[in-house]
Amino acid sequence: MTLNICWLYYDLMNTYGDYGNLLALEYRLKQLQIKTQISYFSVNSSQSLLEKADLFLMGGAEDRQQELVAKDLVGQKRRILQQKIQKQVPGLYICGAYQFLGEYYLTAAAKKLNCLNFAPLSTKSAKPHQTRLIGDIVVEITNPNLRPYFQQSNNRFLIGFENHNGRTYLKKRDNALGKVILGKGNNGLDHLEGVFFQNTLGTYLHGPILPRNPALADFLIEKALQIKYNQVISLKPIDDQLEQQNRLRLLKEFHVKI
Ligand code: GLN
Repeated sequence: MTLNICWLYYDLMNTYGDYGNLLALEYRLKQLQIKTQISYFSVNSSQSLLEKADLFLMGGAEDRQQELVAKDLVGQKRRILQQKIQKQVPGLYICGAYQFLGEYYLTAAAKKLNCLNFAPLSTKSAKPHQTRLIGDIVVEITNPNLRPYFQQSNNRFLIGFENHNGRTYLKKRDNALGKVILGKGNNGLDHLEGVFFQNTLGTYLHGPILPRNPALADFLIEKALQIKYNQVISLKPIDDQLEQQNRLRLLKEFHVKI
């Protein structure tokens, strides 16, 4: 089996260690003896890279880079990505990339960037009296379509680090990825974090998220293989002792009851 990971705007959208998500996927795929191909997609890339993708990754950025991407990810490129998402091809979209899944992003300079409009959500930058939302974050997965995959041990807790100015508002609470246990999440007010639809996951969690939450990496891999090979796939367990020790240490430090 082979999996093609398409890293969207790798040179523009990649902050606070988001590259670690690609490393975590590569590491786990190697343990599973699944061949990995990486497509580095950016402004001048061929749309064929999108067409052959089995799994999408896109990281965070600041407003300037987001403006460049908003101009580029339109027309046929947007359509191909939308079709892929509708066909359930999984993807992980962090922070600035998460904001792109929605209708618009109002930048700190009050410029309205039209986004992909794939999910009913929108994002506005902080008002002058508001601060950036920064710090450690723990989210409990509550999304009814995702929660069943995260029943074992403490897997339902996602651990990460957030650093954003944007406040994201979901039109439907049920679309949230989860509820905030520690930190700020989507907007610091409604205790919601992220979005999940089809097999697409948007979240503010840097950290990077996948090395700290290996069950999420395995969920993405499993779904990508299922969609590509059109069969039920059950991954063999990977030795996660170190990752689990780190998770337990962090959850204890954050006083999360598991
Ligand atoms: N520019 C966006 C914000 O501040 C995204 C930040 C990020 O991706 N880290 O909300």
